[in-house]
This record gives sequence, structure tokens and C-alpha cells, in this order.
Amino acid sequence: MPVSISDSALQVLNTVFGYPAFRGDQQAIIEHVAAGGDALVLMPTGGGKSLCYQIPALLREGTAVVVSPLIALMQDQVQALLQLGVEAAFLNSSLDAQAQREVEQRYARGELKLLYVAPERLLTERCLELIGARMPALFAIDEAHCVSQWGHDFRPEYRQLTILHERFPAVPRIALTATADAPTRNEIVERLNLGDASRFVASFDRPNIRYRVVEKDNPRRQLKAFLDGHRGESGIVYCLSRRKVDETAAGLVEDGVHALAYHAGMDATERAANQQRFLREDGVVMVATIAFGMGIDKPDVRFVAHLDLPKSMEGYYQETGRAGRDGLPAEAWMTYGLADVVTLAQFIAQSESGEERKRVERAKLDALLGFAETTACRRQRLLAYFGETPAGPCGNCDNCLDPPQNWDATVVVQKALSCVYRTGQRYGVGHLTAVLRGEDDERVRALGHDRQSTFGIGAELDARQWRSVFRQLVAAGLLTTDEEGYGTLRLTEASRAALRGSEPIWLRRPPGKAERRAAGRDGGAARTRQSLDIAPHEAALWDALRDARARLAREQGVPAYVIFHDATLLAMLRERPQSLRELGAISGVGERKLARYGEAFLGVLTAF
Ligand code: ADP
Ligand code: ZN
Repeated sequence: MPVSISDSALQVLNTVFGYPAFRGDQQAIIEHVAAGGDALVLMPTGGGKSLCYQIPALLREGTAVVVSPLIALMQDQVQALLQLGVEAAFLNSSLDAQAQREVEQRYARGELKLLYVAPERLLTERCLELIGARMPALFAIDEAHCVSQWGHDFRPEYRQLTILHERFPAVPRIALTATADAPTRNEIVERLNLGDASRFVASFDRPNIRYRVVEKDNPRRQLKAFLDGHRGESGIVYCLSRRKVDETAAGLVEDGVHALAYHAGMDATERAANQQRFLREDGVVMVATIAFGMGIDKPDVRFVAHLDLPKSMEGYYQETGRAGRDGLPAEAWMTYGLADVVTLAQFIAQSESGEERKRVERAKLDALLGFAETTACRRQRLLAYFGETPAGPCGNCDNCLDPPQNWDATVVVQKALSCVYRTGQRYGVGHLTAVLRGEDDERVRALGHDRQSTFGIGAELDARQWRSVFRQLVAAGLLTTDEEGYGTLRLTEASRAALRGSEPIWLRRPPGKAERRAAGRDGGAARTRQSLDIAPHEAALWDALRDARARLAREQGVPAYVIFHDATLLAMLRERPQSLRELGAISGVGERKLARYGEAFLGVLTAF
């Protein structure tokens, strides 16, 4: 009886990759492509896109040609495949002429199951002829959103990839992306001529990522406390400016954190070296501008921290999405304050873009502020932005875990808005607070604001609480900041209704001094435990497993996760296999890795 595609696909998954079962749409996609169909795969980061073309590549005759935009990404994938015993190679500018010829010859001899190619290379006549000399198994177009000029990863060569379909109409194509927004998706279909391809759209939820947003107070201390909960883990800290990257990295190093910096202003060699260390070493914290991250396939990034607001929800989703690709618990943490809003609003106002574009950017910022200020489930809010409607609150974000208190702030808001109005809409939060609290302040007196009706009407809140109120008012559009970036606050259309008090206004209740002190005692921001929750009695074995992995990785000059992912080590820790057969049953231990590394890990496991 002939073996069905579905049986063979499962067998490859079990024996080559060592995984027990498919995830989500993987099986349907693999069967469709293995049978010769075209597919468009929309799946979040960490969803398991690679298998969707790697398994069909192993099931079909010929070599699968994978278009990939980044050298680092190709190298990673090829290394991982070689570890699994799959013949794979890449063609890109990192190879010298000799090495390139060798890869070409291996392709021509039919020795490769997968060939990764940079798009500009693939489009050369030389390469197209090479590929045409044998019938490829399939074309996989990875990071397909690079075809869209709205995304920030636009690669003009991607647009010419339709040539693949024209020259090789019989070869199935599979395009994959983790981009969640609809305009980009539509552009992919149009530009890559995939109108007839089957679409597989997964939920873009990343359930293993815990979202948290905290009010910015003393960012350096807050970051330090956050990192204390992630000791020894790999993570990314995003900052808006190069200078802040340098300062933050230096500060962390001073505090004993293994931190490195990355931004476009650095020397290229140093930048590449830092990236390499982040990929290869365990527990590096990368402090970076958003120039860092595209094509970082590192599966065990345990946290992404934002010290500044991202520009949009799309940016936030993409940047935080770099955490937890391996599916293990990860954290997305952001600290933000009114000054961030002022800075971003100023950027937009002063940019060269036309009015239309500015309006779009302002709307994107507002969506992000809504997310930052929401008292409801953050995941629901995030997914709703991308058009999904989750069934209920997630239970894995700050607002779900520790629900904030809402508070009828109608009267307080009226006091704040009248104070802005009475003082002429020319002052920032510091001054307004001094007036509201009736402080004995020289500037207040000099301006005669101590004689105004709003002087001293808001002594019931302390300065931090007022700051929180003002920030929420800006986020809600009841106040607006000046475009010059001085931080002065002005009324808006919406403020007038609020001043009349026609509708009650609910705000997130800002914690008072006593509550803040209590939160500070139990660590406050550091309330998280280590992401992977290794119990004290397991720690020694865990470290020994990681050491064994690090040694094997060093010997071969590959990142540790290429040997085994954390998820696989964790399964070893929990299940304690005591024989090669038991070890082979661990998820992520395929035949080849069992043969190569089985003894080494069994040695560790049986010693405990
Ligand atoms: P993506 O490219 O979608 O971001 P990857 O292909 O890198 O995701 O897969 C993410 C992680 O999930 C990898 O560690 C991969 O080995 C693992 N993975 C993928 N499919 C499965 C599966 N069916 N079972 C277990 N792990 C899987
Ligand atoms: Zn939630």
C-alpha cells in the first residue's frame, strides 16, 4: 500500500525533527505544498513556519529553493538543518568564489535538499540557469512582507520574484510572513501573484508572552529591578536614541549585567561582533535601537523591554514578538511616561512627511497610548488592533493578573483642565501641579498663579498622582502637547465637554505614597520570577545540562540553541530520561541528534 503524504510528513516530523505532533495549521500546509499546491502562510513569530517548507522539501523530489533576505538568518537555518542531518547550503555574498562554486556543483549534482538564496542572487541569470538545470522541489519565499513598501523591511528585489512563477510555473510556491496587518498582507498577494494560492492564517496571539506596562518613574532603577527577575537570561532592551542605548548599556554593565549595545551609529565590525555574541552566548542583554532585531531568529530571548514608546502598535507587536519564539514563558515589559508622548508627538509634528502621513502617524501613536493606558486585558486590546477578537481576557498580562482600580475622576479632571485654562495653556505638568497643590513656589508667585481660583484646589493628590492624571488625559485626547516639545499642555475640543462635566470620566487610579512604598518592598517591578521557573532542587541539573550544551556548541562554533532548544533541555529536566530510548522520546530529540549527543546528555542525566 502506498504511504500517504500525511503519514510520511508525520514520520519526518518524528524522526528528523524529533517532535511528536504538528502545531496549528502545519500539517494542512505541509500536505498542501507537498502535493504541489501554492500557499500563503501567515503565522506569528515562533509559530513554526520553517517546518512548513522544510518538511515538503524532504518529501518532494529535488531541491527546495528558499528565498531569505538576511545572511544571518540563512546561516542559522542551514546550521540547524545540518545538525538534523539534512543536506542544506546557502548562496549569498558571504561566500567566496570557490565556496560558491562548490555549493552550485552540489546543487547541480542533486545533493542538496534545501538551498537558501538571497533574493538579489537568485535573480541573476547565472542563478536562474543553475536552478533551471534541475526541477526544484518548491520555492519558499520567507519574510514575504519584504515585498511591501509600507513595511520597514522593504526589499525591492522581492518584487521581481514573480519571475519564479513565470519561469517555473509547475513548481509550487509557499510565501511566509509574521506580519499581522492587513494592507501588507494584501500587498504580498498582489505583488507575488499569489491570488490563487491557498491562504493559511493563524491567530497572531503569542500566548507565552506576558505583557506589562509600568508608569515611568526612575527608569534606570525600574529596569534594574526588572532585570533582577531575569538574571542569566537573554533579552533585548529597546531605546529610542543611540545616545540612550550607549548610556543604558554602560549603566547596566556597571551594575554587573552582561549587556552589549547595538545601534546604526556604531562601527560595523563592533556591531556585528555584538550581535554574534548575543546569538552565541547565553544570557546576554542587548541594549539597542530598533535597528536591531530583524532576522534575529534566536529562540530563547526571554524578555523584551521598552524604555521608550515604540512608534506604533505594529512596531510594538513586532519588537515584543522577538521574545519567546521557543514557546516558553517570556515577558514584554514597557515603561512609559508623559515625556515619551511629548517626544513622539514632536517627532511627528516636525517630520518632513506630508499632512496626510502625519495624521496617520498621530493616529498610530494614539492607538499605542490607548494600549498603554488601558485598564482592560492588554492582549485583547493588542489582538483587536489587528482585527482579532479573543474569547476573553488572557490571564497573562499585568491588567489580568493584577487588575488596576478604576476611579471616577470627573471632579479631579475638571480641576486639572480648569487649571490649564486659567494659566493660559502655556505650562507643563510640573507647574500645573504646583498650582493645583497650592505649593509655596517662587515661579507660581512670580506669575501671580497663587492668586488664581485653581490655586490649591488639588491638594488631595500628590505630585506623582497628578502626573499620572495628566498623562492619562493626554492619552485620552483631553489634553494635547505642544509641537515644539516643551511639554506645555493645551485644551482640545474634547476638553470642553469634560469641563462642563456632562459625562463622568473614569481613570486608572494612581497609587498613593503608602501603596507605592508597599509595592517597592516586595520588589515592585521585580515581582516576576525567573521566566523558566527552575526550582532550587533542579538548579544543579539544569546548569549541568546547559553546560553540556554550551561545550558542544563551542566545539562546533554554533549557537547553543542549535544543539538543543531550551524547551528540549527543560523536557529532559522534567522527565529525567535514563536511557537512550527514553531520551529519544523527548520532544526535540530526533534520530541524528540522539546519535550525536545522546551519550553526552545521558551522562549528565544519569549522574544526578
Ligand atoms: P517561525 O519561523 O514561525 O518564527 P520557527 O519555525 O522558528 O518559527 O519555529 C519556532 C520554534 O518552534 C522552533 O524552536 C521550532 O523548532 C519549534 N517548532 C516548530 N514546530 C514544532 C512542532 N510541531 N512541535 C514542537 N516544536 C515545534
Ligand atoms: Zn490579559
